[in-house]
Amino acid sequence: EMLEQAIRRLDLREPFSFEFPQDIRGEARWCLLTHTPLPSGGFVRTFTDITERKRLEQELDRLSRMDSLTGAMTRRAFDQRLAEEIERARRLDHPLTLLIADLDHFKQVNDTRGHHAGDMALRGFVAVCRQEFRKYDLVGRLGGEEFALLLPDTGFDVALVAAERLRAAVTRSPIDPGVPGQTFHITVSIGVAQLRPADDATPFIQRADQALYAAKAAGRNAVRGEESEISPAAPR
Ligand code: GH3
Ligand code: MG
Ligand code: MG
Repeated sequence: EMLEQAIRRLDLREPFSFEFPQDIRGEARWCLLTHTPLPSGGFVRTFTDITERKRLEQELDRLSRMDSLTGAMTRRAFDQRLAEEIERARRLDHPLTLLIADLDHFKQVNDTRGHHAGDMALRGFVAVCRQEFRKYDLVGRLGGEEFALLLPDTGFDVALVAAERLRAAVTRSPIDPGVPGQTFHITVSIGVAQLRPADDATPFIQRADQALYAAKAAGRNAVRGEESEISPAAPR
């Protein structure tokens, strides 16, 4: 009935098609309706069950958004959400903070323990992130062994504390490569930045990156915040 109503509102002299969900005998399915007017008057209308195609589309969409190794968001999905969260933070005048985390000496982990152990460490790291952060904080894999965590409605000082909590939790959490007696530990360095009024994603990420670089330079297994926006008072 709803369909018929919608169709009545359309110009029936033009061909059209649309997709819609439909309960068929208690089963949720997707249908495609096409409507083709005939020159002699009248029309041809088809209904096609496209449930399988929809399922594949949704599966592809999910795969492009989720890193298959760790379950973190892909860079592409993360970038998209980052832009949305920046927009939202600005509209509501809420704070927004970004952590960029890079596993320490990870090449060495791969070289000494093997690629599989490295993979398990990446998974383990994301599992610790999920434990330590709220469910609406976003975890993205930016590439390799570098991750981003976006904390909505969170100010700089709270984010620094959260980053430190994550760093400590990572050092405590054993990585099990699936071989008895081969359990090992990893460390992570983290840079923290807060969204500024004129920011878009690029300078925001850059400042977190610079802070990460400072954490690496400080000897790794460390958290550093971005440098203050206000230049420090001149020494007396
Ligand atoms: P730093 O402390 O300065 O970050 O040193 P690092 O060794 O972690 O940094 P580097 O960039 O030299 O090495 C990153 C390593 O991460 C190299 C690469 O083999 C490894 N890596 C990247 N992606 C994956 C992955 O998906 N699985 C595994 N096992 N290793 C990966
Ligand atoms: Mg690294
Ligand atoms: Mg790296």
